[in-house]
Order: sequence, then C-alpha cells, then structure tokens
Amino acid sequence: MAYTEQDKEAQKQVLLEEARLSTELFEHGITYDLEAIKPLLDPLEQKSGFNRAGGLTGFTLPNGYSARGNFNRWTPYSLLVEDGQPVLYNEKTPIGVINFNKGNPVGDELLSTGERVRDIVNVSAFGGLHCTYSTECSLKDQGEDCYFCAVNERAKDGERNPVLLKSPKQVAEAYDIARKNGVANHFRITGGFVPERRELEYYLDVADAIRTKYDTFYGCAVVGAPADLSVLPKYKEAGFDNISTNIEVWDRNIFASICPGKEKRNGGYKHWVESLERSVDIFGKGNVHSTIVGGLEPKESTLEGIEYLASKGVVCHFSAFRPEKGTPFFGYRSPEASFHWDILDKGTDIYRRYGFTTLQLHSGPASGPHSAQLFQIKNGEFTEEGKLTQWKFPSLD
Ligand code: SF4
Repeated sequence: MAYTEQDKEAQKQVLLEEARLSTELFEHGITYDLEAIKPLLDPLEQKSGFNRAGGLTGFTLPNGYSARGNFNRWTPYSLLVEDGQPVLYNEKTPIGVINFNKGNPVGDELLSTGERVRDIVNVSAFGGLHCTYSTECSLKDQGEDCYFCAVNERAKDGERNPVLLKSPKQVAEAYDIARKNGVANHFRITGGFVPERRELEYYLDVADAIRTKYDTFYGCAVVGAPADLSVLPKYKEAGFDNISTNIEVWDRNIFASICPGKEKRNGGYKHWVESLERSVDIFGKGNVHSTIVGGLEPKESTLEGIEYLASKGVVCHFSAFRPEKGTPFFGYRSPEASFHWDILDKGTDIYRRYGFTTLQLHSGPASGPHSAQLFQIKNGEFTEEGKLTQWKFPSLD
C-alpha cells in the first residue's frame, strides 16, 4: 500500500503526542527501581545517565522523541523491566519500550597529559562536542550569580568535573581525537562568567590551537555580551560560525532581579539585546543564538522574546526551569507541563515562520535540541515508519 499524506499526518499526530508526553514526564517524573534499571544502561552511561538527584538524564520514547525524568515515587509513570527491556507505563497502560542514550567510546581515549577526552568535552549523540571550559562562575564571589544556575554547585562534583579549568591545549587535543573519530562536526564552547577580556582571549586561543591542525571547524562560542561590541567580529575571524549570548529571561525587570550579575555587568539588559542584534550583522541570520529558561517569567513574555529576536535573525532557544540543589530556587516548582508545552509548540511555530533550519536549531547553546525535534516533526522530518531518527551534524571531513 502506498504511503499517503493521511498516513504521514496520522504519524505526525502520534509524534506530537509523544513530544507532549515528554513534558508530562518532566513535570511528574518516573518511578523505577534504580538497581533494576542500571544494568540496562550502556556501560559508558552508567554514571552519566543519572543526574545529581538520581533522575534519568536521557532516553528516547518509543517513536524517538528525547525525554528525561526525575525519580518520583508518586507519579502515574513507571518504568518496568520486561524481558530485559525498559517499558514505560502510564498507570497500568503500557506506553512502549524506551531506549537509553549510548555513550561514545571516544570519550574514554586519553590525552597526552593523561585526562580522558570526556573530562574535557562531552561527545553528543548528534556527532558534536560540548566543552564547558570553566565549571565555575566568578559571579558567585560577588553574590551576583543567576538564581536558577547550579554551575558552581556542579563544579563541586569532582567525579563529574575532574578538570575545573581546561587549557586551550587540552581542549584542542580532545577536539583532535574526537575529530579523527568523526564526532567533532560541531564544537560548542561555554563556561561560567569570567572577566570579559579573558573570555575573548581564551576563546581565540582555543580556536588558534584547533586551527594548528585544521583549517576550519564548525562551532559556536557561547559568550557574555562584550562591553565593547566592536570585538564581536574577532570570534568570527577566529573561526566560530555561530555565537550565543544567553539572555535567560526576556522581561527586563525579572532579568534584573534573577540575573543580577548579567544586569550589573557589561551594560545590562539593553546592551545584551544590542549585542545579539549586532551579532546578526556579523554572523548572519540564524547563526546568532540566545536562550531563555522557560518558567521564570510569564510564558507570554518568553514567547515575545523568541518572536522579537527571531524578527532580528536570532534563534532564541529555551529550556524548562528545573529547581536545582544549592541554588536560591531550590524548593520552588517548575510550572506544569502545559506551560512548557505551550512554549514548545508556539516557539517552534515561530522558528518555522522565520525560516530557520534544523541545523541552526542544533548549532547554538545546549538548550537547542530541546525544541529541534518538535520542529522536525512539524516539518515532516521523520521516517515512513513514523520514527524520529537520530539527527547528526553534517560531516566535516
Ligand atoms: S552567568 Fe551563566 S554561569 Fe554565571 S550564574 Fe549566570 S547562568 Fe550561571
């Protein structure tokens, strides 16, 4: 039987429902027996497959949509092991078999200085690298760190973050090993707040170190808004095709309260927006990124930010607020699933209206893939079997 438009539309509805389910799992969590689940995880993921609260950090639902869920005893969702497979249930109704993310063995390769590649960069399922070059944020010392951010708390976990400040040489060597294994098709570098001059010099040093071996790379520099916007072209000249300046909150008063350091330093809210707009002249439409933490302000405000920035050529990504241990917001709750679904649904419609591409949705900050899959579903980018396959960055070599 021929594959018809009706078939495709029916599959799209199933996938949209799966995407919506991911927001429910995020809100309600999942109950499971940790010891029963652990053996099913890829050996490389046995440690990194759980977050600090013991929640599952990454798996795909039966049709391929990515999800995560904290452990919660009082939830309708449960994960049971049946015939050696993890089956997700809603109360007594089986939803289907889920798939845990797999680690990449290149992460265990060693640098000449003895660190593992995974101590320096994370290898993503998309065939890209994520480097948090500094796991500390200097705003903490002034009591000006963003209220939702746990970066300094995570830095205390020596097992997950054995190298607090990574040298450009280490980063370039990890990049080289990963690229030889075909998984450095995107390179994202980010870190906590450091004085601006040091940030620029560091990023340029990393790019130079990579380019001693490779003429070009494809990547994104996640930076604070520079006080002097005339330095922005230097990131492009160094070889970064994308830049991300993360505004976190669109409402300017809430921004000032929740992100006191970002408000006080580097010119404040207006300057952060100006930096984004100026970046589009240098990097081009769709290659400039920002992100908003969904759930810290009314959703109308978040959507207004996504729309405004899209109209200027900026892809404004978004994540879902998670109250993390050790932050002033610990103990608060994230809004309910329908709130986050509304932002996902309307935010991805905005991306489509302004003609952004799937590659651009993946090329910015770490929150990008959160919405990219829904964007793909709406664009009909799924198989004739109605599955979302693992998206990959185009190969560089
Ligand atoms: S500036 Fe960035 S790293 Fe520092 S507290 Fe804010 S969000 Fe976290």
